[in-house]
Amino acid sequence: MKPQQALCCECGMLRSCQRPRNHRRENYWLAGPIDLDWHRETGDLKCSECGRVTTHAIIHPETDTFRDHAELLQLIGLRWHNGHFTDAQKADIVSSYHSSFPANPYMNHLWWKNEENDAREAGKTTFRAMCGASIPVPTKHIKGRDVTDFRAPEQLTDPEVMEYERLDPDTGTYWDVGDCVNCIRYRNDKLLRERRKALIRILMNAATKTDELEAPLVNSLFDTLRGMADSE
Ligand SMILES: [Zn+2]
Ligand SMILES: [Zn+2]
Repeated sequence: MKPQQALCCECGMLRSCQRPRNHRRENYWLAGPIDLDWHRETGDLKCSECGRVTTHAIIHPETDTFRDHAELLQLIGLRWHNGHFTDAQKADIVSSYHSSFPANPYMNHLWWKNEENDAREAGKTTFRAMCGASIPVPTKHIKGRDVTDFRAPEQLTDPEVMEYERLDPDTGTYWDVGDCVNCIRYRNDKLLRERRKALIRILMNAATKTDELEAPLVNSLFDTLRGMADSE
């Protein structure tokens, strides 16, 4: 085995190693049983700074195909990346990924109306939110709204939402009540992609009508877009 780098999880000291003791391997594609302590690609090594054996994170070389495997799993688990898998394979990863964390029962998720409708028609009691979390099919069927009608993420700074907490009797700690940032990111990415497409049409139309634009709009567009021409 080639020497690889390992990072002390206590002090951050980097060292090289051949084969750490007690190596906890990566759970590739979450195909194995879910290990709730999330110790993956870690091992026990002597740290010169700490002066004792500590847990180290194994750093794979840049050429290693699976160097960012855990990060890729997270992206697939949150439905931000399709990972070139079949729908069934993705569904397995999404399900395993979410079962590996405690779920906040008070989190507000967002979901696609068509996915809610499909689940309802199939007689299911749960389905996947935008972020992949399993959520109950709402008992009340509300006719769909356009995705742009959803509340904007400014609410994440709203003290009414942020300061509201609930006790979790299982752990004796408090859950924040808030909106799922993973769902919001999923939704905002989709809106941004659509907006970029719409912007192409606007810019192309505007480019043919500069003679008709009012002075304030000319100035504002000029100031906003000038940097793009300068960077050519
Ligand atoms: Zn250390
Ligand atoms: Zn969510």
